[in-house]
Amino acid sequence: MADSRVWINGELIPADQASISVFDHGLLYGDGIFEGIRAYNGRVLKLTSHLKRLYESAGYISLKMPYSIDELDQAVRETLAANDKTDGYIRLCVTRGTGTMGLNPYLCEKATVFIIVCDIKLYPAEMYEHGMAIITAATIRNHPEALSPRCKSMNYLNNIMAKIEAINAGVAEAIMCNHQGHVAECTGDNLFLVKHESDKPVLITPGLNAGILEGITRNLVIELAEEAGIEVRQMDVTRYDVYTADELFLTGTAAEVIPVTKVDARPIGTGKVGPISQQLITRFREVVDNAPED
Ligand code: PMP
Repeated sequence: MADSRVWINGELIPADQASISVFDHGLLYGDGIFEGIRAYNGRVLKLTSHLKRLYESAGYISLKMPYSIDELDQAVRETLAANDKTDGYIRLCVTRGTGTMGLNPYLCEKATVFIIVCDIKLYPAEMYEHGMAIITAATIRNHPEALSPRCKSMNYLNNIMAKIEAINAGVAEAIMCNHQGHVAECTGDNLFLVKHESDKPVLITPGLNAGILEGITRNLVIELAEEAGIEVRQMDVTRYDVYTADELFLTGTAAEVIPVTKVDARPIGTGKVGPISQQLITRFREVVDNAPED
């Protein structure tokens, strides 16, 4: 924190002096969008994909972006350099901006954009090695026609409600089902399961219509699995599928690829990290450590 700098509306400001207005609708109404991005070895992973998703989120909520994609690309790199970091987590936020007490977003002057660079360690190393335990939350994911989970909005209360259930149950993550009762995703991660069908592994993950965020890590893992000759199916997933899966893992920018060995106190498969999960975790590491930028 001491020497770190935050980019706000085009300026790099010492972190302890970085602030936004209490009249900002991002704060008053959760009216805004964001991206969580990672830098590995001085390279920003999938920055183009993150910026594309950010602009799609902006389009969905009718938020006029005050900077071009190229300008934000530059700003992210500038903030990383200003913080003297080659590895780190980048939080790029866009709020509706300062406005009146009413909801009307069109009365807000101009969107506020800020970029924070920090370190992140989401889960303990032990969980990556031996797998994590998760639960199924009673809280369902936002109905896609209420607030589409495909929009990475600043309003995370839906996910936070499920996260509270997880923490109260003594675990770090929770599966969220959608309004149809199908498995959607976790509070901050996408979900994959592996089924060994007559000795051929199949990777299964809920499709976009399940009401999920289209994770950048999810898409990368799908790509890596297909490259490795593993069949990938995007389809409806039920809790039956989860409980009877041979392997399970989660993906996310902050979490990376993390195996799950227990759901609702039931062991998944052998109760140990499975071979396909291990293979994809290893391949993911190779890619992020050596990947060219996209
Ligand atoms: N689902 C939700 C609800 C998320 O918040 C995130 C990001 N933390 C993900 C999935 C994973 O997306 P990504 O791989 O792009 O980080």
